[in-house]
Amino acid sequence: MLPRMERTFIAIKPDGVQRGLISEIVSRFERKGYKLVAIKLVVPSKQFAEKHYHDLKERPFFNGLCDFLSSGPVLAMVWEGEGVIKYGRKLIGATDPSKSEPGTIRGDLAVVVGRNIIHGSDGPETAKDEIALWFQPKELVSYTSNEEKWIYGVN
Ligand code: UDP
Ligand code: MG
Repeated sequence: MLPRMERTFIAIKPDGVQRGLISEIVSRFERKGYKLVAIKLVVPSKQFAEKHYHDLKERPFFNGLCDFLSSGPVLAMVWEGEGVIKYGRKLIGATDPSKSEPGTIRGDLAVVVGRNIIHGSDGPETAKDEIALWFQPKELVSYTSNEEKWIYGVN
């Protein structure tokens, strides 16, 4: 891994999968220049969803949110790149799609906060924890992308 590389956890929620938005969303990360290092389609249990969203357990929408996340297939991914945690959130857009900027994933593809199609880690600690929750270390694939020297300008 190049020196300033970091990894983030990105998931397409059941609404994004059901709406056929996988390729649209994956391509936005891919075209930006980030590298896919893990990907799998899973139906999380309610208990697993509660673990994923444990920070929100006092919020009124917590139960409905966990029911929803465990209601169907989720596309779980790890993306790698310089600044990918913060900029990944920028690509995703504000939590409430009615406030997300056009050009962002939620701004372009979602309407209401309860069905905002995608999750992205909100900082380095959460990224580490969420990657560890969703993936075993051996599922993370380290490889050199042929494009790295063109994306980063280093050898
Ligand atoms: N959420 C919701 N109602 C709210 C706020 C959040 O249903 O009023 C859901 C929404 O799906 C959001 C998720 O809870 O993506 C997690 O909330 P968070 O504040 O962490 O937003 P995110 O990090 O996903 O932008
Ligand atoms: Mg969050």
